Amino acid sequence: MTVSAETMIGVTKLEAGRGHVALSERSRKYPGPGEVLLEVAGTGICGTDLHIWAGEYHSVPPVTIGHEICGVVAGLGEGVEPEWLGKRVAVETYYSTCGRCRYCRGGRRNLCLERKSLGTHVDGGMAPWVVVPDINLHEVPDWVGDAPATLSEPLACVCNSMMDPAVVEAGDAVLVIGPGAMGLLAAQVARACGGTVTVRGTEADEVRLGIATELGFEVEVVGAGGAPTPAGPNVDVVIECSGSEPGARYGFDVLRRGGAFVLVGLRGADITIRLDLVCFHEFAIRSGFASTAESWNTAMRLIWQKNVELAPLISEVLPLQEWEHAFNASRAGRGVKYVLDPRR
Ligand SMILES: [Zn+2]
Ligand SMILES: [Zn+2]
Repeated sequence: MTVSAETMIGVTKLEAGRGHVALSERSRKYPGPGEVLLEVAGTGICGTDLHIWAGEYHSVPPVTIGHEICGVVAGLGEGVEPEWLGKRVAVETYYSTCGRCRYCRGGRRNLCLERKSLGTHVDGGMAPWVVVPDINLHEVPDWVGDAPATLSEPLACVCNSMMDPAVVEAGDAVLVIGPGAMGLLAAQVARACGGTVTVRGTEADEVRLGIATELGFEVEVVGAGGAPTPAGPNVDVVIECSGSEPGARYGFDVLRRGGAFVLVGLRGADITIRLDLVCFHEFAIRSGFASTAESWNTAMRLIWQKNVELAPLISEVLPLQEWEHAFNASRAGRGVKYVLDPRR
């Protein structure tokens, strides 16, 4: 593939429908007013990227995908603070929102109907360069590597569901169902809030549960013979990160009266659950879509205060050319987080 000074290679959704993702020549953009140019140092592969690949999540092709971005500020548009130049940053995912609807005005740009996101509407991070608004930038501490820093974005999403306001109180018994990236981040946020956390997975989650153990969590394994009988409804907070019907149902079984159920994992289809228990047992249901500026501030505080460990969640860092292998490995769910590094 020929790459001129005005173009670069990016992992691109070329047209709508199933598949249609390939390495493709993309035009290089330069930062306009209030924007910066980032040299990408790593972009994590998210479930959303897999859904874009499968044609199950709306995107506006042709578009470079990737929204879990760590990069170094390499160029400044007009009006951007010069101090940003050379800083290593993680990036909020909205390229633009309307700025005047009730959600934008209330600090919830994630709900804006005119939201345009990096990696779905506007070129994202699976390319050597990406242009983003300066209001999206969050400086990353030196001690966090490039690949782990890409987890800032999913951490901000977890914080949107769990920390606005905080759902876990000190002393709470917390059960995290599903030990993927979101589950292992949620478990650490719950622990930072003072919760005693157990992480639950299936036999197929051996590697992921091993990481949970390494991070110091108790683990529970759903055996091939079906789920063990719950000890009783004694859990204060359930954080459902498996996106499975059995996971959600189990969560309702073990939650104590008045407990909180946090929905993080998505099924992408209808599930059957005994919703009456929300009344009978006064469950509080919490969730959050993507991230907000506030949840990013919380996430970055957790990182700077060393309340979360990100490096153990990185399974492999690969060059852009190996995107398909990385996407397949991600989809197989053996490891936790796969990252593409365009500099490799
Ligand atoms: Zn994501
Ligand atoms: Zn808006």
